[in-house]
Amino acid sequence: MYDVLIVGSGPAGYVAAIRAAQLGLKVACVEKNSVGGTCLNVGCIPSKTLLDSTLKSYQINHHYSDHGININKVVIDLDRMMSRKAEVVQKLTNGVRDLLKANKVDLIQGKVTKVSQGVVTIEKDNNIEALESNNIVIASGSSPQTLPGIEINNQTIFDSEGALEFSSIPEKLVIIGAGVIGLELGSIWSRLGSQVTLLEAQKEFLPMLDKRLSRQIFKEFSNQNINIILGAKVSEIEEMKNDSLVKFLVDEEKQEVTAEKIILAVGRKPNTGDIQFDPSPAIDELGFIEVNENCETSIRNLWAVGDVVRGPMLAHKASEEGIMVAERINGQNTSMDYDLIPNVIYTHPEIAWVGKSETQLKEENANYKSGSFPFVASGRALASAEDVGSVTVIADKETDRLLSVHVFGNSASEILQQGLVAMSSGMTSEEFGSVVVSHPTVSETIKEATLSMNSKAIHILNRKQK
Ligand code: NAD
Repeated sequence: MYDVLIVGSGPAGYVAAIRAAQLGLKVACVEKNSVGGTCLNVGCIPSKTLLDSTLKSYQINHHYSDHGININKVVIDLDRMMSRKAEVVQKLTNGVRDLLKANKVDLIQGKVTKVSQGVVTIEKDNNIEALESNNIVIASGSSPQTLPGIEINNQTIFDSEGALEFSSIPEKLVIIGAGVIGLELGSIWSRLGSQVTLLEAQKEFLPMLDKRLSRQIFKEFSNQNINIILGAKVSEIEEMKNDSLVKFLVDEEKQEVTAEKIILAVGRKPNTGDIQFDPSPAIDELGFIEVNENCETSIRNLWAVGDVVRGPMLAHKASEEGIMVAERINGQNTSMDYDLIPNVIYTHPEIAWVGKSETQLKEENANYKSGSFPFVASGRALASAEDVGSVTVIADKETDRLLSVHVFGNSASEILQQGLVAMSSGMTSEEFGSVVVSHPTVSETIKEATLSMNSKAIHILNRKQK
């Protein structure tokens, strides 16, 4: 009899398992594939590995000569790039396996087919095994969404997992969906020389950001030769002799583009389909297990965390839910602040944000003040020739407490974390703006943006506050 049995070993499951074991609970974690889930095996880690490799080649081709470094010919060894990616994944998955072992978590390789009250049925090496546990945590993750009539064949049409495994660089690549995955995969293959077109169904590009910022980002992708077509509704993919023809409508007007390869990046769906629940927790029409703010399902002692429940499909949100549930099972009162979950798109420059955009706050008639600072005014950004983008910080006009940070620029993912720490400790813009930061660093941009909302920025002209 276990105290906790966790279904899935992704960032939600393995973190929950380790935390529960730290608390002295007897823990099992069941995994049907490789340990580490989507993030480590076919998501965050392999994509970031390729993003980093390809950024190096892009910079040699496009920016090194500005620094007075001329390299005649860059030769891409795609096999080596891919094997390095596999090595990174292997190192991390081995690390998680070792951590589970060191924490005395029983890692069970098998497929959970049924979850009943206190009992989990597992298919393992052609055998069926039933394990008992006082608490069961579903952390079964998500899979790429498909579109009706478009079948992934991993020859011409790929999902986001297959798109990290191409054996050659496609000359023409079409990506359906210009969300997080579309932009990251588009960046990887465009940097390696593919002619990339992204077809996005929505008319608005990155609607969660300020209109001004999303326009700026759109322009930057155009400068990088990534063609984004908005309001594009794909109707059909016709296989031709050598290429495929992707047919789509923009404002009812028929258009088409040829592609050697096509990637589908239109979102992900929760993995609840192949587990039989008896009794079943409430599951919504999209397949998400319904949970309250503590990740409790409608069935006692059955919990669900990560991509299989509401909220953003992000590894760090999943892990934090795993920790919360492990501690709650241990009788603690742990909770999570869902308003403070950071988002990053790892393009170059990066896009990172937490909290509502100015556009959203304006629509809500919120009483806020904001300040922005462009990277072009940062000495450090200029020194490294990384001067595209800006930082925006928003605070409540009445209380002065920080509400949001939106960054587009080099190292945005790291700069954002500072705003996040300030926000989670309830800092005001006056307090955050008075922290002494090292010079010259790109971190000065978030300080200056914060100062500018109080008309105190030094390295730009302060605009009049409303
Ligand atoms: P997404 O929701 O970010 O983007 C999907 C895009 O596809 C949307 O813009 C949507 O409008 C568009 N779309 C949907 N149907 C379409 C159609 N028929 N034709 C054209 N466009 C269509 O989803 P994603 O990019 O697939 O990512 C899936 C999940 O994985 C997201 O929740 C994301 O947050 C997560 N993820 C996060 C990271 C990161 O944090 N850096 C990286 C990869 C994935």
